[in-house]
Amino acid sequence: MATLPEHGLERDDLRRRLGQAQAEDIRPVERMVAGAQYPAGDDVLEVAKEAYIDFFSTNALLPSLFPSLAKFEADVISMTAHLLHGREAVGSITSGGTESILMGVKSARDRARVHHPFIRTPEMVVPVSAHPAFWKAAHYFGLEVVRVPLDDQFQIDMLEYRAAITPNTVLLVGSAPSLTLGMVDPIEVLGELAQERNIGLHVDACVGGFFLPFVEKLGVTLPVWDFRVPGVTTISADLHKYGYTAKGASVILSRDPEVFRHQVFRFGGPERSDDWYVTPSMTGTRPGGAVAAAWAVMMYLGEDGYVRLVKQTIEYLQKWWAAIDAIPDLEVMGRPAMSVFAFTSRSLDVFAIADGLEERGWLLFRDSFPVKAIRFMQSPGHAAHVDRFITDLREVTELVRNGQLTSAGGQARYT
Ligand SMILES: *Cc1c(COP(=O)(O)O)cnc(C)c1O
Repeated sequence: MATLPEHGLERDDLRRRLGQAQAEDIRPVERMVAGAQYPAGDDVLEVAKEAYIDFFSTNALLPSLFPSLAKFEADVISMTAHLLHGREAVGSITSGGTESILMGVKSARDRARVHHPFIRTPEMVVPVSAHPAFWKAAHYFGLEVVRVPLDDQFQIDMLEYRAAITPNTVLLVGSAPSLTLGMVDPIEVLGELAQERNIGLHVDACVGGFFLPFVEKLGVTLPVWDFRVPGVTTISADLHKYGYTAKGASVILSRDPEVFRHQVFRFGGPERSDDWYVTPSMTGTRPGGAVAAAWAVMMYLGEDGYVRLVKQTIEYLQKWWAAIDAIPDLEVMGRPAMSVFAFTSRSLDVFAIADGLEERGWLLFRDSFPVKAIRFMQSPGHAAHVDRFITDLREVTELVRNGQLTSAGGQARYT
């Protein structure tokens, strides 16, 4: 077990040790690992790093000391609100998608206390395709989750969704898109249901928030899922995914200040001044570096930069999806709207295919939901590896089809 060294190390020694440790880490991009890194080019990475380092010691908890950060955060929120068509939207930067979702759930719960004071055991309706953070939020904040299954097209089953709503429901959940299949839930229908009851509707756009708006700008028609849908009360959108900024940054937006009010925590009490600790989110100290990096990358890329990156990604994805569908026995699941997707097989063991691919150096995300599948989360920087992947996929699938390759306890076995 490690103990604090009695004497501090020399910096050279320390650098060597850090380098050694790093050499043992996986290189996620060239092995096609889903959801670990979002490479968008060395220039973008450098912009994020420079800004992060410049603001390394600043603290976004204290905007009056660091008006720089207050401005960056206000700008990031306003740019995001504009992208997501929230004319009165307000919000804050959090540490990531999970925290953004936690805040969306907490805010819906507290808002229901005002609008529905009779509810004792608040419930939220969550499709099974949603991110585990909603279950985490329910656990932290004392809500009951009512799960909704998918239909055979991997869409939310809307009959089941309606049936899951009870007089205790305070929040409806939908994803844009869901993390497994990249499919956008029918947010307009959910919006009507939420409005009828004056309850919350959280749209989880953690992956889609900084991608789908640019797909639309490319002229593709998508189902509407953002604040254009009147019933949407909160949206989570991760900067550190397809915003391509430094890790530790996501946005939680509320439709308007009345919704946002319920997100904020104010420390108070008769014997204390209650204005020195007012926080919009879970954390106290917040790394100014992550805030500055988010601002810098958004300003660096601009709308045309994001559109260019999204276009590059969609172009190679369409080729990739077509290549998968052209391999007998394989299919892309559902209809992904963006760079998150999974493929499966109705006739072959897709995990045997994964084992064979891993033996060739890939490192894949195996999903067992809603059926056995291999999942991907692609960025512009993965493009260089796709052709080699498709070649391997064709060959490995052939081996599995011919019975030459099977899976034995997560290991490829050749016969
Ligand atoms: C990544 C993700 C989250 C959670 O985000 P973290 O930044 O990992 O906390 C939530 N929802 C979806 C759809 C995601 O892809």
